[in-house]
Amino acid sequence: MSQNDRAAIGFEEGRTTTAEWFDELTRRRVTGPVSTQHRVLDRSLAAETLAVHAGSYEDPVTGSVGTPIFQTTTFLLDDASYGAFSDGSLRDVPIYTRYGNPSQWSVQEKIAALEGAESAVVTSSGMSAIASTVYALTNRGSHIVSAYDVYGGTYNLLRDDMPSAGREVTFVDANDPQAVKSAIRPETQLLLFETLTNPLLKAPALGAISRIASEAGALLVVDNTFLTPVNMRPLDIGADIVVHSATKYLAGHSDVTAGAVVGRRKFLDRVWAQTLRFGGSLDPLSCFLLERGLKTLPLRIKTQNNNARRISEYLRTHDAVTAVYHPDLGGARYAAMESENYRGFGGMVSFEVKGGDAAALAFMERLTLPYVATSLGGVESLVSMPGNTSHSSLTEKQKALIGINPGLVRYSVGIEDVGDLIDDLRNALPPRCEESD
Ligand SMILES: *Cc1c(COP(=O)(O)O)cnc(C)c1O
Repeated sequence: MSQNDRAAIGFEEGRTTTAEWFDELTRRRVTGPVSTQHRVLDRSLAAETLAVHAGSYEDPVTGSVGTPIFQTTTFLLDDASYGAFSDGSLRDVPIYTRYGNPSQWSVQEKIAALEGAESAVVTSSGMSAIASTVYALTNRGSHIVSAYDVYGGTYNLLRDDMPSAGREVTFVDANDPQAVKSAIRPETQLLLFETLTNPLLKAPALGAISRIASEAGALLVVDNTFLTPVNMRPLDIGADIVVHSATKYLAGHSDVTAGAVVGRRKFLDRVWAQTLRFGGSLDPLSCFLLERGLKTLPLRIKTQNNNARRISEYLRTHDAVTAVYHPDLGGARYAAMESENYRGFGGMVSFEVKGGDAAALAFMERLTLPYVATSLGGVESLVSMPGNTSHSSLTEKQKALIGINPGLVRYSVGIEDVGDLIDDLRNALPPRCEESD
């Protein structure tokens, strides 16, 4: 194992937190897994092209255009499967669907291509992807750094499950690179941050954080659910692993629960082994839905970026709206962002309605186009109030500390016509003082 490899996973001679799994990472590895029927495209092609074609299974028997749904739990044993058992390459041969299935390989190859990565694993949910990653890439006696406002499920996993599993966690303000740096300890193995936070859409300085991680010899895991590779590719700026709730933008139609982990094959093999033990594999039908959704990811994201920017510009001028959060609005809030890393800022807009929670609830009920529901990233617009949904377990004081003020509404902007969405907002918000828009 090279010095770089040792450093890359946070292992150094003499550490008390010996990463005993280290030697497993030295076996020669290829990208994939894929079969000879899977379409592997040059990663330098445009996202629009990769989204449609990468990973497709070209069926030699029927010539089917599009990946068949390999709805099976097991595969005939042959010389290749026996060979895989004896040399430990079980990830590369279809044997049993929890281990791997051509439907999974298709969608994994597509997601890996879009993120510019060697390999990916798809899982049964975003939380399955995150839990498998955190467990696989740390060991007892290690330390993890994350943000106090990460996704609630991630926060609960880190706060409730990690200490009893022998991993200590420090939560910091992700927007303060100095705080991230100060939290690093000799035994820090993993940093976990998000490209954009929920619900206030803070954009941590991931370039600076990746430099801190590599100086510390720790891995940087980035949850790219809110931006997707169309807007931002964390691996390009030094992240080691990307995780997704594919339930959101990647699948994009609010009809499948799935997750993904993306990165170098040597890390992904380890994460894959963890998903086997946790049992979080993605079923073939969900793989099909995810693969189909992904084909239009760049089209959807460009429309959603644009719609969200237009909506945030409209809301900013409205006097019944006291604050609007969206990175495209720029300003001091986003000053620390290294903006050259972003091709777009996503389809989420959060804003505060004058008059607090009661006024915001009444406003949401007057909207006719978006559904009032949690989740995000689908083709249809959704609205919800973080204060009485995702963040309802926080005390008033904690909410205030994070910046979740009364009247905060989170809008996941869909692909509808933006003029229609703005008309709907205009009709639902209290009339302006001067009726002149
Ligand atoms: C929804 C979400 C998750 C969890 O994903 P599931 O698919 O619901 O398990 C994790 N991270 C972020 C940022 C999310 O929005």
